Amino acid sequence: MDSSGILSSALKRALGTDKILIETKHVFFRDEVTAIGGFERGNILAKEEDLSVIYRSHPLVHFSEDFRRRSFIRFDFAREWNNRGYGGISIDPSESCFSCSQAYFLNEDWFVLAEVINHKTDEKVSDYAGVRVFEDKLVLWFNRQSGPVDGYDWIIVENFLKRYLNQVYSGQPVISEVPFGYSAAITMRIDCDEAVASGRRLFELYKKYEMPFSMAIKTQQPLDEPDVTLMRDVIFSGGSVVGHSHTHAPNWGGSAASARWEVEESHRVLRSLGVDGINYDYVVSPFHQNSKEAVEGLRNAGIKAFVSGIICNDPEFLMARAGQVPLVDGILSHSQQCMFHGDTYHQDGNSIDGYKLAWQQALETKTFFGYLDHPFSSYWYGWESEEERLSAHEEFLAHLGTYSNIWRSSLVDALRFIEMKSTVRVEQTSKGFKYTLPFSDKFRGLPSIEVVYGEKSHELRLGEEIVIIP
Ligand SMILES: [Zn+2]
Repeated sequence: MDSSGILSSALKRALGTDKILIETKHVFFRDEVTAIGGFERGNILAKEEDLSVIYRSHPLVHFSEDFRRRSFIRFDFAREWNNRGYGGISIDPSESCFSCSQAYFLNEDWFVLAEVINHKTDEKVSDYAGVRVFEDKLVLWFNRQSGPVDGYDWIIVENFLKRYLNQVYSGQPVISEVPFGYSAAITMRIDCDEAVASGRRLFELYKKYEMPFSMAIKTQQPLDEPDVTLMRDVIFSGGSVVGHSHTHAPNWGGSAASARWEVEESHRVLRSLGVDGINYDYVVSPFHQNSKEAVEGLRNAGIKAFVSGIICNDPEFLMARAGQVPLVDGILSHSQQCMFHGDTYHQDGNSIDGYKLAWQQALETKTFFGYLDHPFSSYWYGWESEEERLSAHEEFLAHLGTYSNIWRSSLVDALRFIEMKSTVRVEQTSKGFKYTLPFSDKFRGLPSIEVVYGEKSHELRLGEEIVIIP
């Protein structure tokens, strides 16, 4: 795909509008930089697996050193998952907006924010991002048409617009993904492809730690009394239950019609269970696969938002920020890529260190963090026993307990919040930037929206408006 759709979605998610409204700061992507120059060009010949982006210390790159390396391609498990939440950077010379096939070497007019390094040879093969003053404007540039839309490094674009040198170059406020008054937000779930009731002990553990527990249910499976009782108990304790298709077909069956049928059939089964409080606005995609046609089908079935995000397919639905999707109007997505499984726990030497890092990275970059596990059935997702799994989850929950001010959200509240955020209207008026959050009963009880300009955080309450003077 070209970059215009994905970039305008990314901006809409962060700014509430699909355009940068200020003239003082410009963000350029890949060869758009030709308009201002200050570089030499070459080719990148190495393999994707050998390449990483390395960010330098700079006010725009405020996150810790642990997170300053972004691999072009990184998998935690089976060329499928990246628990650190990144999409892939290809070197495919096609016009894919996710590729970085050309080498650019910036001259001394620029401050280089990031370089591409071949970590096999330790050689620099290109610059990846830079910032400079050009004429009377500030310019931020990324060597990729989609910029960092699919990674935690997206925060650099937000930092540039909302706070970088605002006293000289006026900026534009950013709508945070995390609610006002919180330093971070987190949600978890289990995807119940089989044996729903086997999630019971994990649920009891989360209840003890007062963390909402959520379940996504595939409905073409026996749903007996213990399964239904668990759904009721989960909802009663503040968690949530949503659909996860009827048959768990790849790509929702491959067409808009099949996706719509999958949703409608799974909802028919869920409704027949007689459980109050199951949610029918949101779904979790089977295998996290979302072709454009499938997403149209979900939207046509009345779905308002879906959980997406996986490195091996559909890159346009793996995005740093949640909100309106590219390509299909009227439906939102939230990437929740971190798989809390025994395979990765063992890979890390029987430790949760990888999960702690993924969480810390989300916290430092104001990303709404979502992670998942599965119930046990014939397949145990790498866990040796229920005891091992429970103790790993408990260690993570105890670790979360050392942070204050976290919004621990059910899956449904997370998606309600994201849906509410997508209704914010932004106008540039003679007085400043005006933000309006129209009242809707559906969003009652949620935390407020945070809009940040410079170092100041502003609260936008449901049914109210605020003006931010730059
Ligand atoms: Zn599944």
